[in-house]
Amino acid sequence: AIALGIPEKTVRSVCAYCGVGCEIDVGVKDDKIVGIHPMQNAPVNKGHLCVKGRYAWEYVYANDRITQPMIRRQHHWENVTWKQAIDYCAQKLISMVSEHGPDSIGMIGSARATNEDNYCIQKFARTVIGTNNVDNCARVCHQPTAKAMTMVLGTGAATNSYDDIEKAATILVAGANTTESHPVIGARIKQAVLKGAKLIVIDPRKTELATYATCHLQLKPGTNIPLFNAMANVIVTEKLYDETFIVNRTEGWELFKEFIREWTPERAAKICRIQPRLIRDAARLFAKRSPGICFHGLGLTEHTQGTENVIALVNLALLTGNIGKPGTGINPLRGQNNVQGAAAMGCDPSVFTGMASVKNERQRFEVFWNTALPEGKGLNLPEMLDAAVAGRLHAMWITGYDVFFTMPDANHTKQAFDKLELVIVQDMFMNETAEQFADVFLPCASSFEREGTFMNAERRIQKVRKVIPPPPGVKPDWEIVCNMAAAMGKSEYLSYSTAEDIWNEIRAIWSQVYGITYERLEKGGIQWPCSATSHPGTPILHTETFPREGGKAKLSAIEFKPTPEQAAISYPFILITGRELYHFNAGTMTYRTANKEICQSDQLHLNPIDASIIGLKAGDSVRVISKYGETTLPVYIDADLRKGEVFSTFNNDQVFLNKITNPARDNYVQTPEYKITAVKIEKV
Ligand code: SF4
Repeated sequence: AIALGIPEKTVRSVCAYCGVGCEIDVGVKDDKIVGIHPMQNAPVNKGHLCVKGRYAWEYVYANDRITQPMIRRQHHWENVTWKQAIDYCAQKLISMVSEHGPDSIGMIGSARATNEDNYCIQKFARTVIGTNNVDNCARVCHQPTAKAMTMVLGTGAATNSYDDIEKAATILVAGANTTESHPVIGARIKQAVLKGAKLIVIDPRKTELATYATCHLQLKPGTNIPLFNAMANVIVTEKLYDETFIVNRTEGWELFKEFIREWTPERAAKICRIQPRLIRDAARLFAKRSPGICFHGLGLTEHTQGTENVIALVNLALLTGNIGKPGTGINPLRGQNNVQGAAAMGCDPSVFTGMASVKNERQRFEVFWNTALPEGKGLNLPEMLDAAVAGRLHAMWITGYDVFFTMPDANHTKQAFDKLELVIVQDMFMNETAEQFADVFLPCASSFEREGTFMNAERRIQKVRKVIPPPPGVKPDWEIVCNMAAAMGKSEYLSYSTAEDIWNEIRAIWSQVYGITYERLEKGGIQWPCSATSHPGTPILHTETFPREGGKAKLSAIEFKPTPEQAAISYPFILITGRELYHFNAGTMTYRTANKEICQSDQLHLNPIDASIIGLKAGDSVRVISKYGETTLPVYIDADLRKGEVFSTFNNDQVFLNKITNPARDNYVQTPEYKITAVKIEKV
């Protein structure tokens, strides 16, 4: 039951949804949430919230919330005590380690759990189990960004802050539908445009934000590299570049200059299916009208060349000197509230806490954690699923993440889970993964029911406060992990009394957050790097040097390799997946709120001409079929799409769009190519 009424108190915390990280005032009466309002003086949202952050909180009181641990025996769920559940898992994990070795187990952290939870999850994997097989959902979204930015700039995080939006003369948004995915940032960008900033939007769809743009480059999906290369070509051939910046702050200029000559706008235009004139206009606008800031989303990263897409975008910022200054930068719009934090805490098979390389920094962590640690990079999530199919992975412990519903080509994911001997799911709800494959379910607290910190997309660490008590018996994730370590006889590695104890351990091993104490966070969020308690935090990175050998950023020649997933006679449409305003990711939370009444299902958007050729009208039901599977969903006629391209969100468990999405992976970090799937459409 949802409590309503005048709040007795308000508690400041952070929105549980997207990576913008809006601060909220949560109204509480009789230990129940009665409403949420935006925090008026919050540096991120400045008094605004979107429809998710403000209204979609009733999932906390959903009737189907799981509040007791369960073990599945003989195909039936049985309620058990915490001791029974933890002992059961601990014994299974111990025997698997002894029988198959530590690398037979994989762990998945959660982008909606706190930094403290994620720190414990990866520390458990490495110290208690003895494996680097630990990952998080950044694998299916912005891992290409982290990889690309680390390679060419030295740090895999946003270079600037949201406050740079209002300082920019030109704003370039690539592959991000901010109005729906990051609405508060979308609103700030639109306000900046209304006050005189110029906007370039790069997107295959005519998004609402594109209607504010001076240049909308409506490119063919998957052709970002030709476009960015051609923009670079214009900047170089017309000598619009910032020579001082290039000479003093970059390497690779001579090679890049040679490489980019071939990428004329005419050549790129044929591949991208846009006018060469538009490419020239966008390049000139971005280069001439400084400062220019770049934002990008999953439209760049969820491709076979996702990492290279981001590198090609960084080239534009480097050529024009748009890095390290107010109103500039490369700023990934992170999807989930703490996806940046989950990876930074070390829920990644190749890095420890603070993005410290497993390869180079193992000894430092061995000393700090006082134990021998596994050598070499572990398996990432897609690799874990492959290993399960091959019989090399025997167990997975998944926290706050519906892997089955989320991964592409659900048939492959099913094969993997069917082979696992033990699947532990830790969540608030019986999600698809739990329903179909889990052996044990461990119920965890919502972000309203725990203390900790989140890290938003501009590197700001903010305090998450316990607003209400969790349902009796439900625990925060870190406590469950500590209990499991104790049951496995390894409590010396994970023994904490409070979330603050964990944060203080994180500060001690990651110097860039050492200066960020809970006491300071009481007054407001702080952006890392912040290495001393007197340091104010760092809104802009790379102001003088880049943290790479030699201190310079790298201009990189990026060749274009088209994805094999192309439309053909048998599958004539390209399906693009994306976000919408009312629902969030797997829908686990928003489909348990009134947002479900506003938006009841995913829909297949298609161009009116395509609809008329197939004989479809709005609301008709269609079967959408790819090489990987099929699903059924209602039609939405959408003139903002080009002929031959269709679009859908992926939030609804009845539609289960990932039954049909393309499992091809990014060349560097294996992020799936969700943005391009060849499909055919049949009227039901
Ligand atoms: Fe929450 Fe993102 Fe909406 Fe802000 S913009 S209220 S963080 S979902």
